[in-house]
Amino acid sequence: MIRIDFDHSYARELPDAWVAVAPDAPPAPALLYWNAELADELGIAAGQADADELARLFSGAELPQGAQAIAQAYAGHQFGGLSPSLGDGRALLLGEVIDSRGQRRDIALKGSGRTPFSRRGDGKAAAGPMLRELIIGEALAALGIPASRALAVAATGETVQRERPLPGAVLARVAASHLRVGTFQYFAIRGETDALRRVADYAIARHYPELAGRDDRYLALLQAIGERQADLIARWMHAGFIHGVMNTDNMAISGESLDFGPCAFMDAHHPDTVFSSIDHQGRYAYGNQPAIAQWNLARLAETLLPLIAPRDPAGAVPAATEVVEGFADRYRERWLAQARRKLGLEGEREEDLALARDWQTLLAAQGADHTLAWRHLADALEGRGEALAALFADPEALAPWLRQWQARLAPRTRPLADIAAALRRENPLYIARNHLVEEALAAASENGDMEPALRLLDVLRQPFAERAGLARYAQPAPPHIAAGYRTFCGT
Ligand code: AMP
Ligand code: MG
Repeated sequence: MIRIDFDHSYARELPDAWVAVAPDAPPAPALLYWNAELADELGIAAGQADADELARLFSGAELPQGAQAIAQAYAGHQFGGLSPSLGDGRALLLGEVIDSRGQRRDIALKGSGRTPFSRRGDGKAAAGPMLRELIIGEALAALGIPASRALAVAATGETVQRERPLPGAVLARVAASHLRVGTFQYFAIRGETDALRRVADYAIARHYPELAGRDDRYLALLQAIGERQADLIARWMHAGFIHGVMNTDNMAISGESLDFGPCAFMDAHHPDTVFSSIDHQGRYAYGNQPAIAQWNLARLAETLLPLIAPRDPAGAVPAATEVVEGFADRYRERWLAQARRKLGLEGEREEDLALARDWQTLLAAQGADHTLAWRHLADALEGRGEALAALFADPEALAPWLRQWQARLAPRTRPLADIAAALRRENPLYIARNHLVEEALAAASENGDMEPALRLLDVLRQPFAERAGLARYAQPAPPHIAAGYRTFCGT
């Protein structure tokens, strides 16, 4: 029998922010994936448990001992429009555990059946999107990008009706917490200031404990959340990652990537890149992500006004506005700091921002593969520029920028080979390429064959070290596939 030391601080401290719901028992749970390494990190002693037991415990068939299944309440701006009551329509928090680093982490089910927040939805999830969340979460984590992760994926043996009938699955998801901008909005909209204050104090205690007890802690919370978001979005941008549905209910207070349903990594660098089938206007396009994060931060700021200045919320607007506007600078700083590492620049010079930006502009103008262009900088530095040049429609266009970059790297304080090696530790070779993800999802959900997904996960867990026999995993999708690529939320 598997043992999990659950705690329930969210349920205990925020009684207004959830309802108890039992998961649906799936007809034929079968384990598709178990993340043994993550289980270890969480202190879950699963040594004796077999696949059937794990499938039952993490599909809703049975609850692990000590779990308390609750649907969390939240609101959210979806594509700019406010929904006052979203909440977990197909997810249930089971509880929290303290991991091996002393961090509190949520364990939740996704796809476990209807809740009072389901509206017209069936409360279910298809296997494909849950496996996408698994693969992308692991890929992000391996790139050093904070993200929720999959502990388990279990097939339910049920068919869910989407555009066509699809096999159902439940994802067991681990996150630093599931507090979102939308959690704050839920209480702010209702004018429930005491409950809102409890949410804010809980968020501070859980994610920003250094702010506890400060008189200006709510403004400081806004600032701190903005800083973590700035760092996160800068990482997404450098990785070529597109979240796909940056609604305020999908922006985590912890600074983790959360609810990246229709997410994908782009191949050819272009700011307008959109993959989500429902994002018709390109609101959540690659290049819009920093501005959307700031927009979401502004929505969070609005909720905090009555806490920042209880007697005169409107009086808090200038200070809150300053924080929100400062996000642009925070983002630029984080992006530049990361760019310096990815370009191997030592020290800080005024012209670095222009150098890094020119590089991105060049990639966009040339339709170059984002990941490989960064990766092949190391080769170019070592005098083997062909692979990089081959990514450019007009290789001549590359020469002036390369000269500038090389000039910036001189005089060098370390050998060329060291700089190249450092670049290869910053610029990944293997990302979750869309055609590879699709291939893995199709094999798993159509034929129950997890082999391609497991192989892909294996590659993505070490994104930086080139390994023999994996050339296929480093290649972009063939143009005819890349051109029409679409992702779906799977809702
Ligand atoms: P998402 O954009 O996937 O984060 O979901 C937005 C909202 O829709 C959340 O409140 C979800 O719980 C809800 N939702 C999404 N899919 C379903 C579904 N199949 N059944 C019920 N609720 C859903
Ligand atoms: Mg969501």
